Amino acid sequence: MSAQQQVQNLLNFIDSSPSPWHAVKNIEAQLAVFQFIKLDEKEKWVLEPGGRYYVIRDHSSIIIFVQGQKPLVETGFKIIGAHTDSPGLRIKPNAASIMDGLLRLNVEVYGGPILATFTDRDLSLAGRISYKDEQNHLVSSLVKFERPLLRLPNLAIHMNRAVNEEGLKLHKQNELPLILSVLADECLPQAYFLQLVQEQLGCDAERILSWDLAVYDTQKGVLWGGNDEFYADSQLDNLASCHAALQALLDDAVLENDNTLVCAFFDHEEIGSESNKGAGGSFLTDVLERIASASECDREDFARALAQSFLISADMAHAYQPSFPSAYDPEHKVLVNKGPVIKVNASHRYSTEGVSQAMFIDWCEQASVPYQRYSHRSDLSCGSTIGPITSARLGIRAIDVGCPMWAMHSIRESAGVLDHDYMIRVMKKSFVK
Ligand code: ZN
Repeated sequence: MSAQQQVQNLLNFIDSSPSPWHAVKNIEAQLAVFQFIKLDEKEKWVLEPGGRYYVIRDHSSIIIFVQGQKPLVETGFKIIGAHTDSPGLRIKPNAASIMDGLLRLNVEVYGGPILATFTDRDLSLAGRISYKDEQNHLVSSLVKFERPLLRLPNLAIHMNRAVNEEGLKLHKQNELPLILSVLADECLPQAYFLQLVQEQLGCDAERILSWDLAVYDTQKGVLWGGNDEFYADSQLDNLASCHAALQALLDDAVLENDNTLVCAFFDHEEIGSESNKGAGGSFLTDVLERIASASECDREDFARALAQSFLISADMAHAYQPSFPSAYDPEHKVLVNKGPVIKVNASHRYSTEGVSQAMFIDWCEQASVPYQRYSHRSDLSCGSTIGPITSARLGIRAIDVGCPMWAMHSIRESAGVLDHDYMIRVMKKSFVK
């Protein structure tokens, strides 16, 4: 597949994955094509060498693994980690309210989005609804409103004269509610909202009990630039890394090698990873321990396997934007379409160290993939990833890498077509080496 086809495939994945719950559902559909077997955490696991499996926790974190032909104590686990969530807006429990004749949805900020980018977009809703079915069983279903439902209109420049000098500031409580409708006087706002969900879900409003709903941008992803060398979409951070890891894994030459391969995609990275399904929780440890015990490894064998395991924590990196040179360390400008970025931070906000860097560089060289190195400005605080948390919990060697991108945490992010393909190639190499 060409680099542009890979990216089109990524954009299709993102456009059908407007929430972490949808992302996991779409990943599951891709796994079905390759005969992966779904495991239930409540059941006993019987695993075969060469077997392909996955486990989902709470619909939005997924761990996929291929049981190696060789014993775990010889190969360890080859792990790629990424996250399924993206920063944005989430709908509050009392979802709707009315103000001056306009029905608005009450939102809470999830993670650290660039809020100004949510204005004047064709927004809609997607996520998970929990309800009682006809037999009074509690069930959950995904919903995605395809049409634009919501908007956060900017104030006209005539009322906000300083916006271009001072930037757009939005008060999180007062100025973020999203306009949904003009309401007739007799209708109650929450009833209107539930009616809307009922139409989408096909279940009576009175059966709906709760929801996890994200706001998303209905604009589809595109290739752009004079030679279509860039692409833009929402949620590149970090669905692009999930997609790259999955493409690296779902290749017969990779699936049929001796190593035990793991892709771990977690929800809740953008809010600190501390949850039952986040990278700070027990999910990955639980799964690796169960792989080991189903392979008849004892405690010591498991520790031996971890000691020779490796984690690539894949998350997007900050590409150089020439309009803002002072935002970057002048010696560590990483450029779009110039290869995967190795992220280094002395305070270990990234898990990278010298030996893991050397290993990754070696894989890049073997795959004929260029690479770049990033260090944040010393006078700016640096973001973090699932890398340090996961590597600390498991005690395994790790590296933080990612494709360079612009406008991280904007509702419309962009990146380079070549980098996505480069990342897939080096990830493949890490799995089979
Ligand atoms: Zn990220």
